[in-house]
Amino acid sequence: MSPTQTELSAQRTQMVEWQLHRRDIRNPRVLDAFREVPREEFVPPQHAGEAYEDQPLPIGAGQTISQPYMVAVMTQALELAGDETVFEVGTGSGYQAAILSRLVRHVYTIEKFAELSARARERLQRLGCANVTCLIGDGSQGYPPAAPFRAIVVTAAAPAVPRTLTDQLADGGRLVIPVGELFSQELLLVRKLEGKVNQSRVNYCRFVPLTGKYGWDTWNGSPN
Ligand code: SAM
Repeated sequence: MSPTQTELSAQRTQMVEWQLHRRDIRNPRVLDAFREVPREEFVPPQHAGEAYEDQPLPIGAGQTISQPYMVAVMTQALELAGDETVFEVGTGSGYQAAILSRLVRHVYTIEKFAELSARARERLQRLGCANVTCLIGDGSQGYPPAAPFRAIVVTAAAPAVPRTLTDQLADGGRLVIPVGELFSQELLLVRKLEGKVNQSRVNYCRFVPLTGKYGWDTWNGSPN
């Protein structure tokens, strides 16, 4: 039996408290965004009952919607003030974009699979996220027409930090990106200050691979 709206709403409140706040997510704007966005709308209907579990879920095309905690860690690490233009690589379900849409001025999000992008665009429109632009293409190359960005978040695992992305960061900007091997990575926070970039580790993680020009060749298991 599918869960009722009341049940889903209670599960959402509980997820924010137990999975986010009781860990290390303390930014009140970030916590509020997670209280507002219905994650069940971003998962296939047969998974609606699992929408608030502490795990990623399949969304089709062999891809996943990330674990809520990981979305929160990445969002909090971006230290968003509210007036940023943000670039997200890996739209997937559109959930991370919906969270970001509540926290910044504009979100550009890019997805390599057209069918995932189309579904995400429909959901985001339906939920009133009017400040999100959905793009289709290779996000490892960034999106020069809207650069520079004050914040960039990559939601797929890269073999290294793509120089194209740090080049498209504004001064003072922040990039959050999982970097490492195909099956385990470190989540890095890269800051750009006066033209120089420095990076620190936020967490350990496991994401699906970033493909494209500065991603992985998943057939050979080697970087492109
Ligand atoms: N942010 C998503 C969400 O909230 O549902 C989850 C993203 S999923 C973990 C990673 C996504 O990155 C997949 O949908 C995958 O197709 C996409 N992706 C991988 N490489 C890409 C690339 N080079 N350009 C654009 N999208 C890419």
